[in-house]
Amino acid sequence: MDLVLASNNQGKLREIRQIMEPLGLEVLSAAQAGFSQEVEETGQTFEANAKLKACIVAQVLGLPALADDSGLVVEALGGAPGVYSARYAGPGASDAERSGKLLKKLDGVPPEKRGAAFVCVMACCLPSGLMLTAEGRLEGRIALQPAGDNGFGYDPVFELPERGCTVAQLSAAEKNAISHRGRALRRLAEHLKDFLKQA
Ligand code: IMP
Repeated sequence: MDLVLASNNQGKLREIRQIMEPLGLEVLSAAQAGFSQEVEETGQTFEANAKLKACIVAQVLGLPALADDSGLVVEALGGAPGVYSARYAGPGASDAERSGKLLKKLDGVPPEKRGAAFVCVMACCLPSGLMLTAEGRLEGRIALQPAGDNGFGYDPVFELPERGCTVAQLSAAEKNAISHRGRALRRLAEHLKDFLKQA
């Protein structure tokens, strides 16, 4: 059974495949499945955006589609950048520029007030419109400076105080075991095989 991921983000695709492959599910990127539309994320919540993306791809391709909407929620910034995480430093900005802007905003904020969470909502939508969703979170705090080369996005500035490192200093397997996306996916996966039988 093939599932189409409503994204071409290689970092996400890699992490999602690592979790879905042992379940015997092949995950195609949107481009591989022939979906080339840009879906505008107009929702105000991760759940609304994940549902929106999964639904459009499932309807256009007539295949079960998987979408995640994820981002970083920073306590000291009232939950920002939240659903705007990918667009935080404007269109075309790099991961390093987004992280740089975040560090600047938190300049002078002490470690104990730099609490943050990565949040992910995964949605699977069937061509009929039937939907399954699951949420995962990873709690941590924003580092004082970037560290590590693994992962993507805000990983170099997301610190795990109990491990004494950032997410970008974890291996891919270590990140998948604890990440917001890994948790959401494993929750979704518990029900996915039964859910896909309704396709
Ligand atoms: P979207 O889910 O495609 O809207 O984008 C979410 C954005 O949040 C990404 O572009 C990253 O900037 C950030 N993000 C989401 N998940 C992660 C992660 O696992 N590590 C680092 N940054 C992430």
